[in-house]
Amino acid sequence: IVRYNDIHKSFGDLEVLKGIDLEIQPGEKVAVIGPSGSGKTTLGRLLMTLEEPTSGTIEVDGELLWHREINGKLVRADEKHLHRMRKNIGMVFQHFNLFPHMTILRNVTEAPRKVLGMPKDDAERLAREMLDKVGLGDKLDGYPSQLSGGQKQRVAIARALVMSPKVMVFDEVTSALDPELVGEVLEVIKDIAKEGEMAMLLITHEMDFARDVADTVLFTDGGLIVEHGPPSQIFENPQSERLQAFLSRFR
Ligand code: ATP
Repeated sequence: IVRYNDIHKSFGDLEVLKGIDLEIQPGEKVAVIGPSGSGKTTLGRLLMTLEEPTSGTIEVDGELLWHREINGKLVRADEKHLHRMRKNIGMVFQHFNLFPHMTILRNVTEAPRKVLGMPKDDAERLAREMLDKVGLGDKLDGYPSQLSGGQKQRVAIARALVMSPKVMVFDEVTSALDPELVGEVLEVIKDIAKEGEMAMLLITHEMDFARDVADTVLFTDGGLIVEHGPPSQIFENPQSERLQAFLSRFR
């Protein structure tokens, strides 16, 4: 459902990604782990259309994300193309990014109504269902400021789910939370992952979570995918010295 082809990304002179090839199958849960600054978030932001690759291509559901092919040549896609492609890509950020002046329910109905043109009743029914799923069915009329960080993040997850994306990107979604709130958010994500059909790219510092939820774990270091494999291999039988050293910090 997602394919990165030789992706490079630089910020000025700093090359953050140095040739990333990555494939995510429909329904596959891929966790990305690695040291701070290794390019994990940048990897996710390219798929969320928040950063543009310096070179290389990304495909989502068989279509180029950042480019269009015109007369056999790749040209940068226009905003209209990106807007259409974004409907397939769900995004949950470290800092929730809820609309503070809207009720919880309206935070979740806004995108299906505005982006998909869904009638109000249908959008509300779906939003209630998703808010129930994340355990916030009783908070519909409240405002984000009345919620804990963990609850806000669960609203953000419901808001992404309501669009039924083909792939969801979770970008360090527990990094800004107080430690006692991390668990409830990870549990919600695990439950959604178990339901199956949606692919997920999970950028995380939580090793136990990566082990529990992922089909495939990628270890990034120095802008490259140094090792990838099932959690059993990555955590029990790491091959590279760099991954062994990285994991030893969590033991
Ligand atoms: P962390 O785990 O600390 O979040 P990360 O592995 O997610 O790290 P990135 O956030 O992708 O790493 O950052 C990789 C490098 O790119 C860092 O050195 C960072 O400072 C740099 N970087 C990221 N975004 C930008 C930007 N917009 N402009 C300049 N440099 C950037």
